[in-house]
Amino acid sequence: MIFSGTLLTEGEGALREERGTFRVTAKGISRLRENHPPDCCGFALPGFVDSHAHIGIGSAGPVAREEQEAQILAQRDTGVLAIRDCGSPVDTRWIDDRADLPRLKRAGRHIARPKRYIRSLPIDLENPHDLPEEAARQARVGDGWVKLVGDWIDRSLGADADLRPLWDRKILVDAVAAVHDLGAKVTVHAFAHETIDDLLEAGVDDIEHASGMDEDQAREIAARGVLVTPTLLQIELFTDFAAQAGSKYPVYAHRMLRMFKERHERFAMMREAGVRLVMGTDSGGYQEHGTIGAECALWEAEGVSREELLFIAAIRSRVDLGFGAPYEGGDLIVFSEDPRTTPIFSVPDSVVVRGELR
Ligand SMILES: [Zn+2]
Repeated sequence: MIFSGTLLTEGEGALREERGTFRVTAKGISRLRENHPPDCCGFALPGFVDSHAHIGIGSAGPVAREEQEAQILAQRDTGVLAIRDCGSPVDTRWIDDRADLPRLKRAGRHIARPKRYIRSLPIDLENPHDLPEEAARQARVGDGWVKLVGDWIDRSLGADADLRPLWDRKILVDAVAAVHDLGAKVTVHAFAHETIDDLLEAGVDDIEHASGMDEDQAREIAARGVLVTPTLLQIELFTDFAAQAGSKYPVYAHRMLRMFKERHERFAMMREAGVRLVMGTDSGGYQEHGTIGAECALWEAEGVSREELLFIAAIRSRVDLGFGAPYEGGDLIVFSEDPRTTPIFSVPDSVVVRGELR
């Protein structure tokens, strides 16, 4: 296809403009010298990257192929053309054969311990010492990422139930090393403050939610270049989680409420500390698919400029998650108005996947 207009791409850590007419194929994008009638005009970005979604998980658990397709189409229609799947219990390999669908990098299945995550989703390890072996197994079946559940409420503590790490530090160190030996990376669900130091010691590559992170940890995370997916939509649900726990688990409820109240301060602190934040919706389960606009709106409400937001969502997250350079593979989204200045974060007018308008 032929695109004409303003191509927004990377230039020294920010958005840069290139104006002209471009031919887009599955191999990439190239500037055209002579005039060609365009198929599509406006402002183009490489598609958005959702660095935290779950294709195959619906509000009631695992879903069949028809629903998986509806989920990934909802992502595509809102401009997400690359997804890191942070754990799914179903086989979604059929998606790789569909040239019209977004690119997916899978992290295999969630690895947890019995009763320490959402039922029916993870591989539950009775013996935590099996973690390195299972993590290596998931690294072999995934697309370069492995997903661990780092902490969850421990209901066996009764009225004292609270978030607790699932794994000892030593086990985590061995598991991350096993994954790294296979050339893959580790992303970890972590709500609690006390989970984070062990994750850093173990050398994980991405910390999800990070709702308990303090300033010292943020500085360390920034220094090590560990990614953080702040999932602001998901943190908005912490009041619901607290209400559900209610008087049965008051310690947990109190902690979730406190982390909710500190959310604005914490986000500003992470940015101030230089933490490398990537864009992710946590779609699948609690969040609907196709919510990248809502996630971005929350980042904007935290004071992230539109220009920086577009850069993070469409360019930096792509590079950080291993999806290649902008426009590589002929993926782009087109807006009729300049997305840097429209009043609200809108869905693209056209979506191009592998060089074809979809
Ligand atoms: Zn998730």
